[in-house]
Amino acid sequence: MTAVAGQRVIGMLGGMSWESSAQYYRLANELVRERLGGLHSARCVLASLDFAEVERLQVAGEWAQAGDLLAEAARGLEAAGAELLLICTNTMHKVADQVQAAVGIPLVHLADATAAAVTAAGLDTVGLLGTAFTMEQDFYRDRLAGHGLRVLVPPADDRAEVHRVIYDELCLGVVREESREAYRGVIRRLVDAGAQGVVLGCTEIELLVCAADSPVPVFPTTRLHVEAAVTAALAGQPAG
Ligand code: GLU
Repeated sequence: MTAVAGQRVIGMLGGMSWESSAQYYRLANELVRERLGGLHSARCVLASLDFAEVERLQVAGEWAQAGDLLAEAARGLEAAGAELLLICTNTMHKVADQVQAAVGIPLVHLADATAAAVTAAGLDTVGLLGTAFTMEQDFYRDRLAGHGLRVLVPPADDRAEVHRVIYDELCLGVVREESREAYRGVIRRLVDAGAQGVVLGCTEIELLVCAADSPVPVFPTTRLHVEAAVTAALAGQPAG
């Protein structure tokens, strides 16, 4: 793809899972149409990985190998004309540094976009929902904390259920009312523990829950990530 003046090409590193990558594609196009009007649509390229391979490496703790996989795909996106890069999953931001080091184009970091939205809402304490990797390891919580946020995670039983629903249902395109109810309960308990807002820190969660499921503001990371990317892609472009 040849770069044209005005709209930078967004490179999407997706397939993790493709259920949420489809949302990235839809949202990017909707936002560009909203901002530029008419028939404008997003200039983007997508590298879609086989999630089974990525998930196997996650479970095995083979993060460097998973990072290699993503880095190679990112190089492919750059070669295909991408001018900025999105890793379309919260969890795989664990290897964000490795991916960024592999390319010369800027990575729009999902946790930074999310933290900016939380701060703009005037909040400083958030509950975090995501995979066990995202909720339990440091890479994501520390990135949010680096923006001055206090991050609360659910207790062990709730974390296990949130994680199970992501891999056994949402990544397979299954949306169940019982799971939505379970997530509402987890959110309520986070609010009772002091959360002023809840980060939907997995790119499939907004397929299941929305603002109406929470007594406090929710921060949908897929949408926030795409908004940050489109803003960067259109920087300097007059609205149509
Ligand atoms: N898409 C999810 C996330 O945002 C989970 C799938 C994955 O492990 O990449 O964390």
